Amino acid sequence: MDEAAAAEQFATIPENADMKGLTQLCYDFLETQGAIAVGIASREMLEGGPPSTDLDYVLEGAKCAISFALPFDEEKIDAYLAKKDHGGHQEDNFRTNFIVTGLSVGLASYLDQVGFPSFGVLANGVYRKETPRGMYDFMPDISHRYVAVRAGVGWFGLSGNVVTKTHGATIVLGTVVTTAPLIPSEPLSDEDNYCDDCKLCLTSCTSGFMDKKEKDTVTIGGQDYTYAARKSFHRCDLVCGGFTGLAKNGKWSTWSPGRFEIPDADEEFLPVLIECLGASEPRPSIEGGFHHPALPNYRKINMTCGNCQLLCHPERDERKRRFKLLTKNGVVVQREDGTLEAVSVEDAKESLAEMNPERRAMYERL
Ligand code: SF4
Ligand code: SF4
Repeated sequence: MDEAAAAEQFATIPENADMKGLTQLCYDFLETQGAIAVGIASREMLEGGPPSTDLDYVLEGAKCAISFALPFDEEKIDAYLAKKDHGGHQEDNFRTNFIVTGLSVGLASYLDQVGFPSFGVLANGVYRKETPRGMYDFMPDISHRYVAVRAGVGWFGLSGNVVTKTHGATIVLGTVVTTAPLIPSEPLSDEDNYCDDCKLCLTSCTSGFMDKKEKDTVTIGGQDYTYAARKSFHRCDLVCGGFTGLAKNGKWSTWSPGRFEIPDADEEFLPVLIECLGASEPRPSIEGGFHHPALPNYRKINMTCGNCQLLCHPERDERKRRFKLLTKNGVVVQREDGTLEAVSVEDAKESLAEMNPERRAMYERL
């Protein structure tokens, strides 16, 4: 084939493309790199959903979205929940997010090169700017969760996290939006959803982000999905952001060394969050972490929770075992060199009491 003929053939690829082959390519591309579930939701399957199901927001004229999930390393989850090793899972978590972003961009670029403009959605940390408070409304460009459930990558669990057939909620979701009219997959059957309302996700959340009684329903593509109502996002900001994290019974904590009181009412969270942002700034640096755009002064964020996600496994006994790891291994304090360490409740109280007021004020209100 001469150069001109090759160019002509390439130019007509979108019209002549074999959609069965291209659809299979998307599965192969992602599964080769470790995806444990892949699916495709057409724009019709996302119709009528919340604004973050609008594919045109990132790519005008998009025909569908490819959804996929990459799992976390389960051994590192165990050590993290047991408060034996913080850095192992934290690093795995942030890296998995970056790998998912890379795969999304890589597949989008592949599809674009063969004639179908596409958009790789970042795994995390990107928010719409035109909402009333911009980035601080934490509204994603595209919701990975909604697309994943419609594409059959997983189900909603009671927590509102997406739970997968093999790895529970211990995954990172990725999305590629494309103008290629790929062959859509089917959502998973509700009857096969193993979430049995064990509520361990809710019990493990020291911020009370998920309501224990109220439920939210979201309708996407004519289907209703119901899960625990979500309260103020500032709850998760305060606890998962690492500012504080002691359980109400005082017997266990997240990886946060903070002891600021966790309020009850939604409206109390923002003032406490602002107070904690300032008070915690002089804390010694923790190894690793992630630069999140919502944090002031280009500060790094360290992962200290994730419990609602990390506990959730297809087997109920495994969830219970993980919950035990989380709640029977003491509370976390921070040493002067920045190291986080789990100690007994009594030792933690002693450690805080021994600090001078200046240092202690980084961890609790005096
Ligand atoms: S922890 Fe239990 S209640 Fe929560 S999502 Fe998982 S299975 Fe459902
Ligand atoms: S990550 Fe932690 S604080 Fe945030 S909702 Fe889950 S359990 Fe609650």
